[in-house]
Amino acid sequence: MSCIFCRIVDGDLPSRTVHETDQTLAFLDANPLAPGHTLVVPKEHYETVGDLPPEAAGPVFETVSAVTPRIERAVDADATTVAVNNGTAAGQEVPHTHVHVVPRFDGDDVGPIHRLFSARPSLSDAELDEIAAEIRG
Ligand code: 5GP
Ligand code: ZN
Repeated sequence: MSCIFCRIVDGDLPSRTVHETDQTLAFLDANPLAPGHTLVVPKEHYETVGDLPPEAAGPVFETVSAVTPRIERAVDADATTVAVNNGTAAGQEVPHTHVHVVPRFDGDDVGPIHRLFSARPSLSDAELDEIAAEIRG
């Protein structure tokens, strides 16, 4: 099995685990963006958020919600950025879906995730209506 997060879940690779449930594992990122940077994964292998069945999606967010305040307390963070690089075009490198919980500090000058998008589209009301309808299906 080549998926590194499956190998961590199976105990074949070491990790600094901070929380474990029947369906999820939370462990420190090996190359942290900030002290306490944690990854939350489903134990089952699913590549993207959209691949998660409801019985896996719920527990992943339950674990995110359980560990986030503990992470903030542990590193005395003022806030956290909770984010998923969902798909390769979004920068996902490990193809086992995972939620990043990255501690944030007053004055860290990283900004909101909106800062990732320097050029924003200008969409008309009609285009927004069309997109919303398409998503509703
Ligand atoms: P992605 O770009 O896929 O959203 O993020 C993958 C994350 O996994 C990166 O932040 C990277 O530092 C982390 N990572 C990659 N390999 C390992 C590993 O073997 N152990 C741990 N703990 N984290 C890893
Ligand atoms: Zn996997």
